[in-house]
Amino acid sequence: MGYENEKYVSFLNRLIRITHEEPYDKEEYVNLIHEICIDYNLAKGETEFYQTPMMEQRGIGEKFCDFDNGKADSVLLRIRLVSESKAILIATVYTEEALKERSDEEMTEIDTMLRVILGFVARRRLLRMTEIFGFSDLEGFSNFRAFVRYVDIANAENRLGGKIAFFIDLHNFTMVNQEIGRSNGDTVLHNYYEMLKKAIGDTGIVVRLGGDKFVGLFDRSIKRAIYDLFTKASVPYGEMGESKIHISAAAGVYMIPNPFMLKTNGDIMDKIVIAVDMAKHQANGGIVVYDDKMKYEKAHVKKVQSKFRDAIENEEFLVYYQPKVNIDTREIVGAEALCRWIRDDVVVPPIEFIPILEMNTDICKLDFYMLEHVCKDIRRWLDEGRDVVRVSVNFSRKHLVDVDLLDKIIAAVDKYNVPHEYIEIELTETTTDVMFRDLKRVVNGLQEQGISTAVDDFGIGYSSLNLIREISWNVMKVDKEFVPKAVEDENSISNIMFRHVIALAQDMGMEIVIEGVESVDQLDILRKSKCSIAQGYFFDRPLPLKDFEDRLDRKVYPE
Ligand code: C2E
Ligand code: MG
Ligand code: MG
Repeated sequence: MGYENEKYVSFLNRLIRITHEEPYDKEEYVNLIHEICIDYNLAKGETEFYQTPMMEQRGIGEKFCDFDNGKADSVLLRIRLVSESKAILIATVYTEEALKERSDEEMTEIDTMLRVILGFVARRRLLRMTEIFGFSDLEGFSNFRAFVRYVDIANAENRLGGKIAFFIDLHNFTMVNQEIGRSNGDTVLHNYYEMLKKAIGDTGIVVRLGGDKFVGLFDRSIKRAIYDLFTKASVPYGEMGESKIHISAAAGVYMIPNPFMLKTNGDIMDKIVIAVDMAKHQANGGIVVYDDKMKYEKAHVKKVQSKFRDAIENEEFLVYYQPKVNIDTREIVGAEALCRWIRDDVVVPPIEFIPILEMNTDICKLDFYMLEHVCKDIRRWLDEGRDVVRVSVNFSRKHLVDVDLLDKIIAAVDKYNVPHEYIEIELTETTTDVMFRDLKRVVNGLQEQGISTAVDDFGIGYSSLNLIREISWNVMKVDKEFVPKAVEDENSISNIMFRHVIALAQDMGMEIVIEGVESVDQLDILRKSKCSIAQGYFFDRPLPLKDFEDRLDRKVYPE
C-alpha cells in the first residue's frame, strides 16, 4: 500500500469516528475537512439539504460550506441522494480548473469520503426534521409531545420540584376573532405565545394544545409576571404591531411540591385539567390553584350528574316555600319556591347541586319540574279555597337561548289552569350583550302574558343600572349584601347607594323585595328606606309544603 492510500485510510477512519460520535466534535470535524481538502487539492466543499423535491426545485433549503479557499472554478464531483422520506441531499466538491485531472483511484477515494460526509449530514438534518415535525404543529407552535418530553427530561434530572404547571384557556377568543378578524386573531395567538415563551425563558416551557389552549411549566420565582400574562396581557397585532388587544384566560395551575418525582404523566396533567375546568366554571374566570380536594369535587360532580335523571323521575326534588312578608302589616304577601334534594333522607341544599346542573342543560329540566310542582300546589290551594299568594320560581339564565322558553312556561302554567297573576319568574343578570337581548325579550314576553318578572340578587355580581333602565321588571329582589349594616354611618357610600337605588326603582314603579332579612336592625333600615317587603330568616326559613300551608292559613305574622 502506497503513501497516498495510508493517508486516505487514516482520513476515512477519522471521518467515520468523528461523524459517529454523539455528540460529534464540531471543531475536530471542520479541521479534518480542511485537512482533506488541502491534501486532495480541493478548492471548496459544499452540502445542500432540501426537505422535499419541490423545495429543491424552488431552491428552498439549507446550504453548508465547510471549506472554501476562494479558488473554486470547476466542479470535480457531485453526489445527489434521495432519502426514504424524499428529502434531497447534495454534496459538491470544487477544484481549480488546472487541477481537474485526477486518477481513478483518487476520484474513488474522494467519492467514498464524500458519501460518509453526506450520510452524516443526512442523519443530522433528518433528525432535526423529525424534531421540528414531531414537536411542533403546522403553525409553528410547540406541541403537547414537546411538553411531555420536557417533563420527562426535567423529571429525570430532578428539576420538576418547585415549578408551577399550568393549563390556560383564553377567554372569548371566538369573539376576539370576530372583532379583529381571523388573521389578526392568529397574530394575537402567536404573539401571546411568544410573550409567554419569553417570560418563561429557560425556567420551563409553553406549548399549544390546539385552538386557544396552552399548557406549560415555569419557575415559582417568576409567578407574578406569568400570572399577569394570564389575567391581563396586552397583546400587539397589526402590520407593525400598532394595535393592542387585552387577553385573559381561565387558568388552572398546580404548584409542584418539592421534592417531586413523577410516576405517570397524569400526575401533572390531571391536576391542571381539573383546575382549569374549575376556572372556566367560575363566573369571573381567573386563576384556580389545584387542591387535592378538587379531585373529590370532581367525583361529586360526576355523581350528581349521573343521579339527576333518576332523581327527577323519582321526584326526589321537593319545593320549599319561603314567605315574603309585608313588614308594616306583617301579612304574607308572596313566596319564593326553592329547591331541595332529598337524598337518602338528607336534605341537600341547592348550592351543592345547582351549579353542577348549570354546567349543562340539566338545570332547565329542574326549573320546569319546579314550575310544574308549584302550579300543581297553587291549583290545589285554589281548589281548597285557600287565600293564595304569588309564588316566584327561579329560572337559570341557561334558558335564555331557548327560543321556545316563553311558550313552554305558559304551557306549564295553563296545564294546571293557574291564573297567570299567581306566577312570578326570577331571573338573574347576564354577562354578555347577546344574553342581555334574550333577557329583555323573555321579560317582555312574560309580562305580556301577565306573568310577573323579578330581577334576582340585585346589587351583587354584574348588576348595573342598565339592567333596570332597559328592562321593565315588575320586581327587584335586592340581595342582602347590598343592604347596609346597622352599624354603618347614614352617610356611608353603601347607605347612600342603597337609598338611591331603592328610590329609583320605586320611582320606576318596581316592587322591592329585600332578601336575607334576619334582624330587627335590618327591619329598621328597610322601614327608613320605605321598603315594605322582606324575605328572610327573621320571618321564616324556606319551609316544607305543610309548614308553608300553615303560614298561608294563618296569614299574619304575630308581633
Ligand atoms: P336565591 O334565589 O337568591 O334564593 C335566596 C336564598 O337565600 C335561598 O338559599 C334562601 O334560603 C336564602 N335565604 C333566605 N333568607 C335568608 C336569610 O335570612 N339569611 C340567609 N343567610 N340566607 C337566606 P337557597 O335555598 O340555599 O338557594 C340558593 C340559591 O339556589 C337561590 O338563591 C337560587 O339562585 C338557587 N336556586 C334554588 N332553587 C332553585 C331552582 O329551583 N332553580 C334555580 N335555577 N335555582 C334555584
Ligand atoms: Mg331567587
Ligand atoms: Mg336572591
